[in-house]
Amino acid sequence: MHLFTYKQNELYAEDVPVRQIAEKVGTPVYIYSYNTLCRHFEVFDKAFAGVEHLVCFAMKANSNQAVLKTLANMGAGMDIVSGGELYRALAAGVEPNKIVYAGVGKTSAEMQYALSSGVLLFNVESAAELKLLNQVAGKLSKKAHVALRVNPDVDPQTHPYISTGLEKNKFGINIYQAIEEYKTAAALENIQVVGVHCHIGSQITEIAPFVDSLKKIIILIKELRKMGFSIKYLNLGGGLGITYDTETPPSPAQFAGALIPLIKDLGNCKIILEPGRVIVGNAGILVTRITYAKPTTSKKFLIVDAGMNDLARPSLYNAHHKIIPIQQNKRAEIEVDVVGPICETGDFLAQKRLLPEFLQGELMAVLSAGSYGFSMSSNYNSRPRAAEVLVFGDKYYIIKQRESYKDLIKGEEIPLFLGEMS
Ligand SMILES: *Cc1c(COP(=O)(O)O)cnc(C)c1O
Repeated sequence: MHLFTYKQNELYAEDVPVRQIAEKVGTPVYIYSYNTLCRHFEVFDKAFAGVEHLVCFAMKANSNQAVLKTLANMGAGMDIVSGGELYRALAAGVEPNKIVYAGVGKTSAEMQYALSSGVLLFNVESAAELKLLNQVAGKLSKKAHVALRVNPDVDPQTHPYISTGLEKNKFGINIYQAIEEYKTAAALENIQVVGVHCHIGSQITEIAPFVDSLKKIIILIKELRKMGFSIKYLNLGGGLGITYDTETPPSPAQFAGALIPLIKDLGNCKIILEPGRVIVGNAGILVTRITYAKPTTSKKFLIVDAGMNDLARPSLYNAHHKIIPIQQNKRAEIEVDVVGPICETGDFLAQKRLLPEFLQGELMAVLSAGSYGFSMSSNYNSRPRAAEVLVFGDKYYIIKQRESYKDLIKGEEIPLFLGEMS
């Protein structure tokens, strides 16, 4: 469900014509729908109403302050993967005791920041990390609350770059070594073991991998409890997929419906969930304008003003994003490549795509761009990053100004011996 729909052949974001935003704010521009965002969170949260739970939004999917604030207002916690994300979460007013911290490469400075902020727990991914966290906590005279991220060795059947729960991946601790690591953790003075974490990948469109990994984790939890560990949190990670094209992922209700019966007999265990994509993915679009239509002898190119620096997913994962016109009318469909202005052949939004015949100067909307869109964008080719807009009913708000050329050289300095800056 999302609120980007045609009304009298004109694409609207909720009750605002997309064209109006594009003309006022310029292109490329990310547009998010507030009511879609809320609805997605609500549907997900309600699906787990039967168990004690906390939904921690995986903010690497979209870390704009207004998006975080929207979700925090609805009771969301955050799943962070860096000190920068912690800073953003706190700045948006997220309660520290609803923040969980994952990531294979936490530095001591990041640990220090998280400990003194009072995050709920660290999802620890290796023995070496456990050791460092123990040291850092000791220096601060604090106890770090820890869930070990366990790698259950299941194949989530997704793109290899976003598959994280296989034995060969860099993430987590092999489930067969987990007991040993829990024992190590228990012996560390400034570590308090409170839970188990797992996250097997992203854009998962089947229920089976989630169920398989949960079954393995439950066996582990029972084992740990027998050994005297108090396991109060079971963090199931994120990864539930969305429809970009023809995928039919389980709904949050089906997802929860498959997991809850398995969780129920655990007793005294709070479930943490870390959805990212499923909350914001289809709550955002990227609007871009066609700079040129360029037919060549072998292909027709549409060269648009958004590039791989704005939306990396097609180039990075060969990901499919639906593309639709802002103005719907009867026209022929032709096969085109939609490409950006960047000096790379890998700079495309769509390849060999059958689309309505677009005209030079026309606007198009790239759908499902709310997650891993802006948050992965860069300044490559010295392109100022796009603006972000939040639509709420018939109003819209710029929630991130388009970068200026001046922003591009912010922090750069010419050493004196090279001469004066102009
Ligand atoms: C990326 C990530 C998520 C979110 O994944 P989605 O596919 O966006 O739901 C959750 N937890 C961890 C640890 C992650 O790295």
